[in-house]
Amino acid sequence: MKIQFLGAAGEVTGSRHSVELTLAGRQKRFMVDYGMFQGGREATNKNIEPLPFSPNDLDFIVLTHAHIDHSGLLPRLCAQGFSGPIYCTTATFELLKILLPDSAYLQRADVDRADRKQKAGKWRGEMPIALYSREEVDLALSQFTVLQYGQVVEAIPGIQLEFRNAGHILGSAIAIIDITEDNAQKKRCVFSGDIGMKGKVLMPDPDVISNADVLLVESTYGDRQHRSLQDTEDELVEVISSTMTAHGNIVMPAFAVGRTQEILFLLIDLVRRGRLPHLSIWVDSPMATAATHLTQHFFSQLDSQSQATFEWFKANPESVDLRFIADVEESKALNKIKGGAIIISASGMCDAGRIVHHLASNLPREQNAIIITGFQAYGSLGRRLVDKAKKVRLFGEEVLVKASIHTIGGLSAHADRAGLLDWLKGFELPPKSVFVVHGEPESSSVFAECIRDELGWKNVIIPERLHTYPC
Ligand SMILES: [Zn+2]
Repeated sequence: MKIQFLGAAGEVTGSRHSVELTLAGRQKRFMVDYGMFQGGREATNKNIEPLPFSPNDLDFIVLTHAHIDHSGLLPRLCAQGFSGPIYCTTATFELLKILLPDSAYLQRADVDRADRKQKAGKWRGEMPIALYSREEVDLALSQFTVLQYGQVVEAIPGIQLEFRNAGHILGSAIAIIDITEDNAQKKRCVFSGDIGMKGKVLMPDPDVISNADVLLVESTYGDRQHRSLQDTEDELVEVISSTMTAHGNIVMPAFAVGRTQEILFLLIDLVRRGRLPHLSIWVDSPMATAATHLTQHFFSQLDSQSQATFEWFKANPESVDLRFIADVEESKALNKIKGGAIIISASGMCDAGRIVHHLASNLPREQNAIIITGFQAYGSLGRRLVDKAKKVRLFGEEVLVKASIHTIGGLSAHADRAGLLDWLKGFELPPKSVFVVHGEPESSSVFAECIRDELGWKNVIIPERLHTYPC
């Protein structure tokens, strides 16, 4: 058996791992995740590079969760000829029905905008590329087979697959794949996907897995420790209380899927526990609204505290004035509110979407607060705010930054170093091969060293992209 790493090797995006083996005398191949590379021109080049084998040679795909950096190139693969099944959990499939069409729409919009600018002679640099169309998304969506957590299926004779809960986002899974190759003992391969932080809001703790022969483990925050949830709560209470006392608004940019729901549950829980008074919250992002409804639908998959919070809110609906904004006019009308509102909107890094309007109207007033809870990439508007820019350009106009800007950590969807090590301690014996993936080089190497030092595991490898490793 061999594994080739086509992405998320030395970086955090483009998760794609290809497994090649021999069954009943024939070569077989499957992949775990088929994600998009994100961040600039180099990412685009990797997204369009041909696979080192034909898409027709793939027997099936296993998808750990819905995030675009794990799922985002599936429509392209299906359009290129892959016609086999794609396995994922039920909730992941429901999320993909929101995320993949949105991804196609954003790519189309980027291309159309660039076309218009080019015709007007205002476009510099390379033109963006649409990696797939809405029709190709529909084709990909027709190839999914959904599984429950704990359900075991035979993907092809000799390969069994099971998903366990990864506690990262709704539907997220650890993939356990048992392989019995010709003339060999059964091997258990465990693909961590993205592992959630223990004790975090909304999602249950990741399932403990006790044995593996081959393990792939993520290392996004393998060199870092998150702030505690207690500190995060205290900071949030302090900022919200003081802003409400000053009759200001609070604007929270948030990723529509995952982060928005975490913030909502946390705010409602703080009201439930009497740490915050009655709140007026507007969720202004159609995708966040759809994802919030899905979260309610998959109520039984949430952690017990969030379930209790949700039940309490159903019994006490007057405690939080929670409204979901649908149309653009309603969204613009929020600009008239001069105080007492909490507005949660996307995009999470403030570069596009309705959040930009809310920033334009709320940044210039000093009684307002902007609360940033997510990662802000270099070059994004969110990053400039975090870096204390005195003024920013929005819709072609200069806007003064008078509102206070607060960065509140501790809400990460990924486990930190201690969380990842804790999860690895669930394995009763060291796996024969451990591959540390899905991390920037520094993060992966610090974490690999930790595994060797603290757990005493020997065969810990940081794979290189496009390289193939026997195991
Ligand atoms: Zn993820």
